[in-house]
Amino acid sequence: MTYPKVQLLIDGKWCDAASGKTLPVVNPATGETIGAFAHAEKADLDRALEAAAKGFQVWRKAGAFARYQVMRKAAELLRSRADAIAPLMTQEQGKPLAEAKMEILAGADTIDWFAEEGRRAYGRIIPARAPGIYQLAIKEPVGPVAAFTPWNFPVNQIVRKLSAAVATGCSIIVKAPEETPASPAELLRAFHDAGVPAGVIGLVFGVPAEISQYLIPSPVIRKVTFTGSTVVGKQLAALAGQHMKRVTMELGGHAPVIVFEDADVDSAAKLLAFGKFRNAGQVCVAPTRFLVQEKVYESFVGKFTEHAKALKVGNGMEQSNTMGALANSRRTVSMDAHVADAKKSGGKIRTGGHRIGDKGNFFEPTVVTEVPNTARTMNEEPFGPLAVINPFKTFDDAVTEANRLPFGLASYAFTKSAKTANAIAAEVEVGMMTINHLGLALPEVPFGGVKDSGYGTEGGADAIEAYLNTKFVSQAGV
Ligand code: NAD
Repeated sequence: MTYPKVQLLIDGKWCDAASGKTLPVVNPATGETIGAFAHAEKADLDRALEAAAKGFQVWRKAGAFARYQVMRKAAELLRSRADAIAPLMTQEQGKPLAEAKMEILAGADTIDWFAEEGRRAYGRIIPARAPGIYQLAIKEPVGPVAAFTPWNFPVNQIVRKLSAAVATGCSIIVKAPEETPASPAELLRAFHDAGVPAGVIGLVFGVPAEISQYLIPSPVIRKVTFTGSTVVGKQLAALAGQHMKRVTMELGGHAPVIVFEDADVDSAAKLLAFGKFRNAGQVCVAPTRFLVQEKVYESFVGKFTEHAKALKVGNGMEQSNTMGALANSRRTVSMDAHVADAKKSGGKIRTGGHRIGDKGNFFEPTVVTEVPNTARTMNEEPFGPLAVINPFKTFDDAVTEANRLPFGLASYAFTKSAKTANAIAAEVEVGMMTINHLGLALPEVPFGGVKDSGYGTEGGADAIEAYLNTKFVSQAGV
């Protein structure tokens, strides 16, 4: 599949922007312009809102089983097209082909899971105080949703929101990432081709702030969901608050990784290196602040650094490369700044620290150790291929450092002691913790943060609840 000119999806039709305006898409591995996407403006957004209002009235009445059938078909279509969509994602985002394909297949699994779960959006009957009275708590779709998603997982950041909305009978307008527009369009195409009625799903691109400022206050929109940085998340949550819209916020993190002295250091180093450098570290749940107990500190640093050095960095389209380009030039600028500041603060570079070549956004897998808490990278999410490793003495020291920042998204711990595992899971203030393996982000498990990392969950049964209202009906016999 050659890189397409990406269109908007409004009222069941693929279309250009009313103005005909487009913006370019750049391949982060080559710096070349590879395509363009339609740039929506107010006239297009008005049509998208009108269609979403209409689509909602059709879809909420379609019935859970009909919605399930369409979604199962969409999942199959997406799965069958994964080989064709993966190169589009790699060209626009930079990640290796194998990672792109994995993301698309995982997306299909997410659609399947939400399709099933939509059939179980049960209400309840509440025992009445008097005979002949029926008290019902009924689950109803919240209404048209406005979803805003980032470029790091072009399909998977959308598929959770899209699937939960469609499964519950909502309609949804997706403002997909402008830097990576083609693979999201293919995700929506799978739903469209599976037979989702006109107006139920919409896709727009443009200037993110203009679109969010326009969609969120619209009386058509009943729920707002955003994945991205904490700064932008707070702005959108404030706007949604002014207009009393339901909100889910999946924001940044700075995941603590606690390796205790009784851990299997070989396994921890190997798993964590995979987790750290996947998608070149541009992952909100990526392990970032490594805390390793003194006794095994040097051994862990050595092994982890060897794994980092073994990565083959290059254009993701070449099968042999295991880490691709960063998705945009903002990230390489940010990596340079993080590394320079860590060095200036006294950190030791164990490997990496530099850009690679002068074409594309390549950066070396980087390991920095003994970085003081005052350094930028100990306070700000690196969102790139940079691991910071520091030693710790006691359990309490590790907990204090883990909870020092305002973020609370993901966390990791490695220990052979069940007692330590239980204690660390209880003490760290986060939305997710995975112990002795990488176990986050499956469709059926909760996914979300606390504190500045946001609120609401995008996985598991709770994710469905976020798209439902509870209506109470009390009925007496006549
Ligand atoms: P950014 O905050 O400008 O953009 C992040 C995403 O939000 C983009 O997709 C962008 O289009 C969208 N966005 C920005 N302003 C918006 C607005 N007013 N309304 C609606 N959408 C808006 O940042 P960036 O330069 O792309 O990335 C910087 C930081 O953002 C990263 O370092 C990382 O901390 C965070 N980020 C987090 C995730 C995540 O998965 N949680 C993903 C991407 C970026």
